[in-house]
Amino acid sequence: MPDQQRLAQLPKVDTLLVHPRVAGLEGSVPRPVVLSAVRQHLDGLRARLLAEEEVAPAELEPETAAGAAAELALCLAAPSLRGVVNATGVVVHTNLGRSLLSKRALERLLELNQGYSNLEYDLAKGARGSRYVHVDRLLCELTGAEASLVVNNNAAAVLLSLQTLAKGREVVVSRGQLVEIGGSFRIPDVMARSGAVLREVGATNKTHLRDYEGAITSETALLLKVHTSNFAVVGFHQEVSLSELKDLGDRYHLPVMEDLGSGSLVDFSPYGLPREPTVQQALAEGVDLVTFSGDKLLGGPQAGIILGKAELVERCRKNPTNRALRVDKLTLAALEATLELYREPEKALAEIPTLAMITAPYERLSGRASRLMRRLKGLNLQRLKVSTREGMSRVGGGAMPLSAPRTRLVQVEVEGMSPTRLEQALRGNDPPIICRLEDGHLLLDPRTLQDGDAAAIAKALAALAA
Ligand SMILES: *Cc1c(COP(=O)(O)O)cnc(C)c1O
Repeated sequence: MPDQQRLAQLPKVDTLLVHPRVAGLEGSVPRPVVLSAVRQHLDGLRARLLAEEEVAPAELEPETAAGAAAELALCLAAPSLRGVVNATGVVVHTNLGRSLLSKRALERLLELNQGYSNLEYDLAKGARGSRYVHVDRLLCELTGAEASLVVNNNAAAVLLSLQTLAKGREVVVSRGQLVEIGGSFRIPDVMARSGAVLREVGATNKTHLRDYEGAITSETALLLKVHTSNFAVVGFHQEVSLSELKDLGDRYHLPVMEDLGSGSLVDFSPYGLPREPTVQQALAEGVDLVTFSGDKLLGGPQAGIILGKAELVERCRKNPTNRALRVDKLTLAALEATLELYREPEKALAEIPTLAMITAPYERLSGRASRLMRRLKGLNLQRLKVSTREGMSRVGGGAMPLSAPRTRLVQVEVEGMSPTRLEQALRGNDPPIICRLEDGHLLLDPRTLQDGDAAAIAKALAALAA
């Protein structure tokens, strides 16, 4: 069939725009988006006709084309950043937004962002103030630090500290600590960007105090320790402790900095998790600067927190680079509210979602797994098979890589659908449900499920297994 004749079969833009399926979107989808969806859909059909691809006659019916264009319009109008159900059991899931904020932090965000605030205004003096004071008192009170500075994320905190303390000079660091964190953060690369020169010492598995000492020259500006949060070395292994490094620094009048990474303010060892160095411990051991993330084990908003000696923190604050890395008021509002909860540790553990999920006792998770299973069985669907089984969750965020807190998993099968297909279908649900596929089974971990998630899961499975 000649092109002209084939193309004549296409419905007209105007025909689709007035078709009830498309016209019915008025009020819910902006008109330019509707128009764009109709054009895009017709362009697609036109390209296929010209390429002499198979186009079913039904696809050219206004009814079908209008339906497809309307669906496309709804897709185009939907937000790109959406809420998902995290059924993976990975608490600090870097791909799913790391930490959830506490109710208190959410309320403060709303309150402080629908009106003006004293962000940089000193209410006592009636003059310009500093945005950093709002969290400074709390950070120092909770950790024992002399001073604090908050920037956009921990990568920024490391960059700013290294640039401030060691630009054009040398930083001594153990070879075993030249880590890469997900999202392309590598200590050697950040160091290069800061203008500091890396002096690697020791071997991959062992570094001794004498290795650090042997590398100190008149060019040395800083001794750096990096918490290798996302991997563990087993076997023949030795690291120099922070206090040993601090003694060495004192002898040579060199500051010591530690990048703690996940930066916890609470000790999780009473909850069956490994003992990780806390921020307070690092400061008590005399570290001059310590940096960590706000949205890993702290359970707050994305931020990079620098704590330590007043003089060094002040130099970081005054570094012009700080202006490019500075935190906004949303972060400060959420961070202050999160830190307030830490004044009463039991409150922090109960009300900061990251902490509550990490420390959730097995009995509670097992109870939730049973309830979810009963709910799904209660759907009375022949094709839906549900059971529970033992399993492990993960802390995530590159923290505590060896620890896998015990959980009770819900295993779901839909007859006639492979687990891989089921995983895809749940991921394509609204809201998307992100599950775990483990040795060919589709698994849901109640540890990371939030209020309302069970209902969303039941609704999605009911539609899939009907
Ligand atoms: C996560 C991590 C970082 C990066 O922190 P962000 O807040 O993601 O920028 C840096 N260093 C260590 C050791 C980390 O674990």
